[in-house]
Amino acid sequence: MCGKMGATKGKRGHVLAVPFPAQGHVTPLLKFSRLIASHGVKLTFVNTHFIHNKLAAATNSHAPQLGVVLASISDGLPDDDDRSDAFKLWESLNSTMAGHLTELIEKINASNCDEKISCIIADVTLEWILELARDFGAQSFGFTPASAASLAMVLQIPNLIHQGNLDLNGTLKGIESVRLTDEIPAWRKDEFAWSFPIDLKTQKIMLECCLCGEKSARFRSTWLLCNTFYELESSACDLSPKLLPIGPLLDSQCRANCSSFYVEDTSCLRWLDEKAVASVIYVSFGSLAVLSHHQLQELALGLELSGRPFLWVVRSNLTNDGSRVEYPEGFLGRVCSGGLGKIVEWAPQERVLSHPSVGCFLSHCGWNSTLEGLAAALPFLCWPYFADQYHNQSYVCDKWKIGLRIEQDENGIRGRDEIKKKIEIVVGDDDIKANALRLKEMATMSVAQEGSSFLNFQRFIDHLIME
Ligand code: UDP
Repeated sequence: MCGKMGATKGKRGHVLAVPFPAQGHVTPLLKFSRLIASHGVKLTFVNTHFIHNKLAAATNSHAPQLGVVLASISDGLPDDDDRSDAFKLWESLNSTMAGHLTELIEKINASNCDEKISCIIADVTLEWILELARDFGAQSFGFTPASAASLAMVLQIPNLIHQGNLDLNGTLKGIESVRLTDEIPAWRKDEFAWSFPIDLKTQKIMLECCLCGEKSARFRSTWLLCNTFYELESSACDLSPKLLPIGPLLDSQCRANCSSFYVEDTSCLRWLDEKAVASVIYVSFGSLAVLSHHQLQELALGLELSGRPFLWVVRSNLTNDGSRVEYPEGFLGRVCSGGLGKIVEWAPQERVLSHPSVGCFLSHCGWNSTLEGLAAALPFLCWPYFADQYHNQSYVCDKWKIGLRIEQDENGIRGRDEIKKKIEIVVGDDDIKANALRLKEMATMSVAQEGSSFLNFQRFIDHLIME
């Protein structure tokens, strides 16, 4: 029998990686995990059963991924329960996840004394997981899939509350914005990582998640592993002394195979092959953002009006009233049958972004998408939905100057004429293209031999192996 304490020391150890159960969190941590495993470190990646099954169905495999062992635990909800209810999922994870993970670690530790868990890397929001590490004599590292600026802002939450500038529902009080340094764009009211003003109950949960992240970052992590690179966000990185920027985590870099929850429709790659260089607008809202029926119709008509080829990811749950996606009358016949537009339910996004035919990324500005588009030197059209997406938009448009906002009208709609206008402006803007190229080069250098992220990763691996 192996005892509970005394994780493997002086060997390569055994890392347990635990993401928050959402696409934008699982993907970057899985990429990072593959990089770690490629250095000969044993790594077990723990999803919830629900996500594990989704991944397996979408990638058609239960096989270990490039040395990463996949495992799963319950999220505490019955199989057929609704995981889109953020409140229910968060409460359940909070109250059950640590217990399930403890059982798994005990099982792993008992099965092989030489492969006891020596290190836990968990999403920063999962504070109770990082706390577990201590019980098992393992090291703990928080992983943040968002920007360094988002993390720096999250670290300010207790101050904002203490000063009376933020209430416990996540609403800003008495001030209109928060600026951390001159180099980082300010956060305006309702543009914080926890902001969701249309549903204050959800916003409260998002603030709770952020507060867990704040606690993990401050008290539970030796280092904070962040999917960014120093040159991109030096000012924000300098605000968090424990931060270790190790990004951008890209498929090409991480030798990834698929980490999608949905089946990727690769027919769009062949469709792209037929199009002229830099001619296609790629449109994607990530895994969670939703549009009203009216908004979806305006977008369809705006794309049609632009007269340019487009590839549009339309998830079956893209509309916010739960109904079937409906396009404007005759749209599919006019636009898609003729080959001008293509619609897929889920794309192999990184391969699409690096395809020479793609010339612009209309994006919701999730952090993964932002980094992926940046690494492909693409100009952006920004259409944020919630959370950190608004601040990422400010980075893209105001700081890096690699994209433009698509503005809402007085009714909160992004109209067809505005969409057409911004497409025309962005594809003709040489300054934006030059800035995008410069950032791509910076990103490439950061992960190349002797680059900042390369060296940080090396430092992390050396630490894992030496401890
Ligand atoms: N993604 C994809 N295919 C799609 C749309 C998105 O593979 O059709 C991937 C995308 O490459 C990114 C992730 O899904 O890695 C979405 O993460 P992001 O942070 O951009 O947005 P979120 O889904 O968290 O809002």
